[in-house]
Amino acid sequence: MTKTIPNILLIYTGGTIGMIKDPETGALRAFDFTNLLDRIPELKLLDCNITTTSFDQPIDSSNMEPKYWVAIAEIIEKNYSTCDGFVVLHGSDTMSYTASALSFMLEHLAKPVVFTGSQLPIGDLRTDAKENLITSIQVASLQHYNKPVIKEVCLYFEYKLYRANRTTKINAEHFEAFASLNYPDLAESGVHLKVNSERLFKPNARKELVVHKCLDENIALVKLFPGISERLLGCIFNTPGLKGVILETYGAGNCTTEKWFVDLLKETITRGIPIINVTQCSGGSVMMGQYETSEKLKRIGLISGKDITTEAAICKLMYLLGQNIAPNLFKTIYETALRGEMS
Ligand code: ASP
Repeated sequence: MTKTIPNILLIYTGGTIGMIKDPETGALRAFDFTNLLDRIPELKLLDCNITTTSFDQPIDSSNMEPKYWVAIAEIIEKNYSTCDGFVVLHGSDTMSYTASALSFMLEHLAKPVVFTGSQLPIGDLRTDAKENLITSIQVASLQHYNKPVIKEVCLYFEYKLYRANRTTKINAEHFEAFASLNYPDLAESGVHLKVNSERLFKPNARKELVVHKCLDENIALVKLFPGISERLLGCIFNTPGLKGVILETYGAGNCTTEKWFVDLLKETITRGIPIINVTQCSGGSVMMGQYETSEKLKRIGLISGKDITTEAAICKLMYLLGQNIAPNLFKTIYETALRGEMS
């Protein structure tokens, strides 16, 4: 079999990787993407054909919104038949959200979509951008018998390839900015690029890509803290138009057993608003019923987020609310791993 050269599409959305310092203010701002390629002549040495596209107005990822997730999904959809892999350059601040969202939006994905970025701009002497970009392209180019090795949305940063919807940004300064505490790395880059094949997502090979673009943003994220007031929670849970809530609880999914609190959750669920229990801990899983402080939550019908990250929980909620799922099925579907986002 003759080896084909993979076609890789590089999508620049913004972020530090393509930023420069404003000479007047000293603040970092996005610059023209074409300069990015000029700065990395090494890209021409890679064994793949690279084409590039960019957001008209590259953004700092703190300005990311679901409409941009749809824009990325549409770029992938448009180029899906002609490209073998995709590398999305994105600011690291909200990269885990965007990459998680894309994992849900791209159903039956059978090609690699690798998100990456950097902590230092590409022009910086000590930049981490070059390694992140070059290895991401290599990862997206990996083929076995002319078929992509990776068939899921992943995130590459500082020598590690992660399942995207398992990641969280954990450090604002270190080059090792991301972690995947509940799922092992998919690959590690050292002298060799070592892929852990048994950990890769295996999509249903007989299904065609379906791109879901309908996301419902009418959700809330509530992080509990000792002393959180009934008044505040009452306002949040009674927000007009609210469709779903991610509740960040303590430890293995525990909350106060105060009556007003449990009653408020119960009323909200009775009104047809799903509440997802996710843990505030970076690692580990919700296990409702393990303690008295979570047993009631199980009884009133909270959905278990198990070991999902908050980022993925938010994106999964927006995605499933956009699917118009029958209310009696919502809990079962949410508690099912759809893209390897929970164990
Ligand atoms: N603020 C930047 C962004 O997320 C940080 C980065 O790129 O790492 O766009």
